[in-house]
Amino acid sequence: MTIPIRTTCAYCGVGCGISATPMGGRAVTIAGDAAHPANSGKLCSKGTHLGETVGLEGRLLHPMIGDKRASWDKALDLVAKRFRETIAKHGPDSVAFYVSGQLLTEDYYVANKLMKGFIGSANIDTNSRLCMSSAVAGHNRAFGEDVVPASYDDLDEADLIVLVGSNTAWCHPIVYQRIQAARAARGTKLVVVDPRRTESCEGADLHLALKPGSDVALMNGLLAWMDQAGLLDGDFLRDSVAAPDGFWEAIRAGHDLWTTAKACDLPPTELQQFYEMFAANPRTVTLFSQGINQSIRGTDQVNAIINVHLATGRIGKPGAAPFSITGQPNAMGGREVGGLATTLAAHMDFAPDNVARVGRFWAAPNVATKPGLKAVDLFRAIDEGRIKALWVMATNPAVSMPDAGRVREALEACPFVVVSDVMATTDTAVHAHVRLPAAAWGEKDGTVTNSDRTISRQRALLPLPGEAKPDWWIVTQVARRMGWRNAFAYDRPADIWREHARLTAYQNDGVRLLNLRAQATIGNEVYAAMEPFRWGGAPFAYGRFPTNDGKARLVPVTQMALQGPLRDWPMTLNTGRYRDQWHTMTRTGLSPKLARHREEPLVEIHPQDAVALGIADGDLARVSTAQGESLFRARISDGQRPGEVFTPIHWTDQQSSGGRTGLLPRPLVDPHSGQPGFKSTPVRVERI
Ligand code: SF4
Repeated sequence: MTIPIRTTCAYCGVGCGISATPMGGRAVTIAGDAAHPANSGKLCSKGTHLGETVGLEGRLLHPMIGDKRASWDKALDLVAKRFRETIAKHGPDSVAFYVSGQLLTEDYYVANKLMKGFIGSANIDTNSRLCMSSAVAGHNRAFGEDVVPASYDDLDEADLIVLVGSNTAWCHPIVYQRIQAARAARGTKLVVVDPRRTESCEGADLHLALKPGSDVALMNGLLAWMDQAGLLDGDFLRDSVAAPDGFWEAIRAGHDLWTTAKACDLPPTELQQFYEMFAANPRTVTLFSQGINQSIRGTDQVNAIINVHLATGRIGKPGAAPFSITGQPNAMGGREVGGLATTLAAHMDFAPDNVARVGRFWAAPNVATKPGLKAVDLFRAIDEGRIKALWVMATNPAVSMPDAGRVREALEACPFVVVSDVMATTDTAVHAHVRLPAAAWGEKDGTVTNSDRTISRQRALLPLPGEAKPDWWIVTQVARRMGWRNAFAYDRPADIWREHARLTAYQNDGVRLLNLRAQATIGNEVYAAMEPFRWGGAPFAYGRFPTNDGKARLVPVTQMALQGPLRDWPMTLNTGRYRDQWHTMTRTGLSPKLARHREEPLVEIHPQDAVALGIADGDLARVSTAQGESLFRARISDGQRPGEVFTPIHWTDQQSSGGRTGLLPRPLVDPHSGQPGFKSTPVRVERI
């Protein structure tokens, strides 16, 4: 009898535990892991059908140099040589890695160590930049460290859950089921704040279909209303929160109900209803996702939410917290090891004492001393010829980056591009000089961290196919060939995990909450049998924050002026996910059952606009912006606000001649986080 193997889902940041039973060959039976705290045995459609996606169709099974199969030695030697030569000729900042929240923590750790400790540049950024970097910047500004102040248990204990910019029902389905269970069990109220009427709105107590980008006005208005009603937490504000001069004067001026309703384009009665529900329910969780983060004012939007929670004492208590829910299975693990260009390692920034500390720990010759290029800037640097060698790991920026057409041109012009991936042909891989076959989900071992800081194991269930290798092994082999054999002398992922855990605790005087000291000495067997665990306990339960004075910060944020319709681009484009697809469909696209949910990419248009544009349901429509254009099938939906349309992010050149959403958004970013805005692009829609 085959024994089920406990592992973790390959997809979203909920991080559901899976019980997978290999059935011979490539067959795997998938069930939910009843003992995993994130899902208690439940799975959504994507997790349930993981077994349909582990076949070898389309896999990259051998190293390739150009179109020719090569040995691992030859391919790795070439990668190391070209990176070494480029660095010698143009300096360490002439090379870059672009990595992924799909990597395991151990993969991420060695890639980050190689770039920041040994190459000596911080030009390693991740597709998590596109997902939740505004939440990271907001946490750092408010709390002094990138700590998520909530856990999924808080959803069970909340009396009010506010979903802001999150179609949780589709994008984090098991969290949504948990919310519905709380509603059934204890009558938890649900408010959805989203310009679209999504599936998450079904059965909600209130849906606020606000104007895109007006979230700061909404939250500042709530804060002003709570202040005027005498409902702030004075003791908490005095003991645990610091406000800069002028903060309260700015909140009290210009945030009355009527002004806020106008700014958000909402009826004042709806706004009043929301504010009264918030006031009546101190156990409030505000759960936010890409509608907040993927904005050119994403960090301010995050801090507007956190400000309300800090000022009303809705943090550090059961059922009360602002809660950023991440998109990818290991966006958080990447944050923990320093996989963003803006952090060094283990939640440390580039302060000189941190650089010295990490240098001592790694015995590294050449630790980066300043942040590297964030994703959009990184691809711009490639386009401008400043980056001359790029290694893309487990991601598809030719589809997912904003202004993706320009990204393709940059990749095509880059003198040396390496892609390590599971699939042989992606929109990014077609530009690679060297392709390295990586292990897929079910073939590799390591850890992932989900949205509420629970660390779980992904475990291998299947043999490595062809010559595929785990990402940590590939990076390590290149690092050794570049001359750093001793620093990358790992035999197995457990070796890397222990080193990462030691670094989180190394000369950590307790200021940093990320501290995996107990994990630093575990043996290989303990690592192999590791149970899911959440680090950081109940952060902020004692009203102390990881800042110099122990107080959290209220951050002054003001609503930016929102752009009206432009003559050539009179509508506004919002983008997002479908329930049954993941990113650029390289895996979920293999499942016929998942494909049935939405068989083609749709542009959703309000009925009024459809009449004005002469577009009927099912027509083909061209969606164009200043950056590019693509075709979509029209769906007429009164879930859209008039003047606004929605398209999905998933389709690529490999799957379809249309539906290329990535070609459309502007490469504009939030000034604090560098996260691009994907939610409100000026656009034109025409019937063809
Ligand atoms: Fe996987 Fe997310 Fe679905 Fe859970 S909710 S099964 S982690 S895709």
